[in-house]
Parts: sequence; C-alpha cells; structure tokens
Amino acid sequence: KTEVNSAVSKEELGRSTWTFLHTLAAQFPDQPTKQQQRDVKELMVILSRIYPCKDCADHFKDVLRAHPVDAKSGEALAQWMCRVHNVVNRSIGKPQFPCHRVDLRWGAMNCDEGACDLHGRFYK
Ligand code: FAD
Repeated sequence: KTEVNSAVSKEELGRSTWTFLHTLAAQFPDQPTKQQQRDVKELMVILSRIYPCKDCADHFKDVLRAHPVDAKSGEALAQWMCRVHNVVNRSIGKPQFPCHRVDLRWGAMNCDEGACDLHGRFYK
C-alpha cells in the first residue's frame, strides 16, 4: 500500500504512541472533569480497536479489561499508563519501568506559557 522506505515499523509506531500517551497523562489535569475522564477512557477503547498493529490492538483489549483506566487525576492516569505499558513490556520480554520515576521520564509539553494547557496540571 505504501512505499517500502516510508513504512513505519511496529517498534517506531509503538515508541511514538507511548510518547503521545505518556505526554497526555503527564499533562492531564489534577482534577479532570467527568468529560475529560470519559474522553481518556474512550480514547483507550478506540485505540484498542483501531491501533494499526492488529496483534497489539487485540492484546491491548485484554490489558484494558484486566486494568480498567484510572483517570480520576493526572497522577492516577500517569501511574495507570506506566502500569499498562509495563504489562505490554512484560508480554514482549522488555524490562519493567519503575513507575515511581515516571514523572522524571515524561513531563508536560514544553511550549509557551499556557499554550498546551488543558486546564493545567503544571500551569496554574
Ligand atoms: P517503548 O516500549 O516504545 O517505550 C518508549 C520509552 O518509554 C522507553 O524507551 C522508556 O524510556 C519508556 N518506558 C518504557 N516502559 C515504560 C513504562 N512502563 N512507563 C513509562 N515509560 C516507559 N509490540 C509488540 O511487539 N507486541 C504488542 O502486543 C504490542 N502492543 C502494544 C500496545 C500498545 C498500546 C502500544 C502503544 C505499543 C505496543 N507494542 C507492541 C509496541 C511496544 O510496546 C514498543 O513500543 C516497541 O517494541 C518499541 O519498544 P522500545 O524498546 O523502543 O520502548
């Protein structure tokens, strides 16, 4: 369908997607609205349906069933994201990431003051 040299590998796709997901979690509000909590849950369900690696998507459905999304706060979501990433890591033989260090690895986006604020966790 696409030219061979423009194709993205499963690994690249995974790294980019985790970057997106952990950054989203790092930037998620301390006190999210019900709508924001619903949005994250829906996003994860949708990801488990249309993620463009079928085996990954199918596995992620099981992961979500065993680990329901915890989006009650930014901190809770960052920890949940770390846990589910570790479940995927385990299933493909990669090392576990220490979740108490997740805030050191992933932060809110570096952009002009307020410009990436989602009713900010960091820009109050
Ligand atoms: P990645 O796992 O992509 O991680 C990127 C960076 O995140 C790491 O370098 C590290 O600094 C950091 N990190 C690692 N673990 C954590 C953590 N727990 N919390 C926070 N930060 C962390 N691949 C498959 O082969 N089979 C699958 O079933 C599969 N399912 C996937 C499901 C989803 C939803 C996603 C997003 C990806 C999936 N992948 C799957 C891809 C896989 O997870 C990796 O992205 C890919 O193998 C590349 O790995 P990597 O070593 O570059 O690091």
